[in-house]
Amino acid sequence: MNHLEQLFDVAVIGGGPAGLSAGVALARALRSVVVIDAGGQRNLRAEGVHGFLTREGMSPQQFLAAGRAELEGYGGTAVTGIVKSAAHECGNFVLALDDGSTCTARRLLITSGSEDELPDLPGLRERWGRDVLYCPYCHGWEIRNQKVGVLAASSHAVLQALTFRQWSHDVTLLLNGEVTLSPGDREQLDARSVKVVEGRVRGLVVQDDKLSAVTLDDGSAVPLEVLVVNPAIVSRANMLQVLGLEPDDLEEGPGTRLHTDDSGLTTCPGVWAAGNVTDVSAQVMTAAAAGLKAAAAINADLVLEDTLLAVEAAGAPAH
Ligand SMILES: Cc1cc2nc3c(=O)[nH]c(=O)nc-3n(C[C@H](O)[C@H](O)[C@H](O)COP(=O)(O)OP(=O)(O)OC[C@H]3O[C@@H](n4cnc5c(N)ncnc54)[C@H](O)[C@@H]3O)c2cc1C
Repeated sequence: MNHLEQLFDVAVIGGGPAGLSAGVALARALRSVVVIDAGGQRNLRAEGVHGFLTREGMSPQQFLAAGRAELEGYGGTAVTGIVKSAAHECGNFVLALDDGSTCTARRLLITSGSEDELPDLPGLRERWGRDVLYCPYCHGWEIRNQKVGVLAASSHAVLQALTFRQWSHDVTLLLNGEVTLSPGDREQLDARSVKVVEGRVRGLVVQDDKLSAVTLDDGSAVPLEVLVVNPAIVSRANMLQVLGLEPDDLEEGPGTRLHTDDSGLTTCPGVWAAGNVTDVSAQVMTAAAAGLKAAAAINADLVLEDTLLAVEAAGAPAH
């Protein structure tokens, strides 16, 4: 069981790039901070982190270990565990962890990330982050000029196929019975030499631990090296129900996000959010930046409260 008896200034739920970056900033602000993490960062299946200046290709595990070491180096606390629920009690937040322990903090930062709901095709989940992908900025360079298939889930697939055409001259849009193309779509796809396949995709063919094709319902196969999907990106926010915080549906596609203001403040006073839980397009660097920004806003809020308390303690009327 974790022993977290002290009242922390800030508890952070989630130790990915957003949570660790916030934790380091708060520890450097001489705040007592605990980062509680279940160990399910979104990119863990990827070979390396791309697009984070100075950390190109570092494994996600190394990246996170370095972040935790920085947090602890400044006196922050890193805890492994799952926060099951968060409640408001006597002006503080009380978190219940899966091992039965509790943790109390003056402010809360939610950096619990999001879940990718993948298409339900046999064997697809096992290839996720390897040759089943969604983000061209995370993997586009690595798969450049390979045979790319885009598995349509909605009309957004047309734009996805045109986007991946930037990285490969061999792109096939697999309509999968989900999309009817307009004449305008056809014109654009033809002009960019994107092939179109009509049938429903039934399975993946993997040879020597590499994707080699997808099979269609008529029994034919389309040779591919990479399959691009468009998962629903759903924020991990179940533990916030008692606080009345519910994620909103995304406007731009399937998925959800916690709504915040520009500083990361949610609709619940004292609770901030940063990273994928509130911004599905955040990558490692932007998630970390959002964590830093939220940390500064939380510290500013605590400075005001500390000042108010000091004024009251000094016996002067509070303004
Ligand atoms: C396959 C793949 C590859 C990617 N590659 C790249 C890349 O190369 N470059 C890039 O910039 N981006 C990449 N991304 C995106 C990147 O993963 C995200 O931008 C990043 O992880 C977001 O950070 P975060 O801190 O918001 O969330 P996460 O990194 O997902 O961290 C959230 C953490 O919170 C924990 N958590 C959730 N609920 C609880 C709870 N109740 N209690 C305790 N802990 C909890 C989770 O277990 C997890 O450890 C990739 C994504 C995928 C899917």
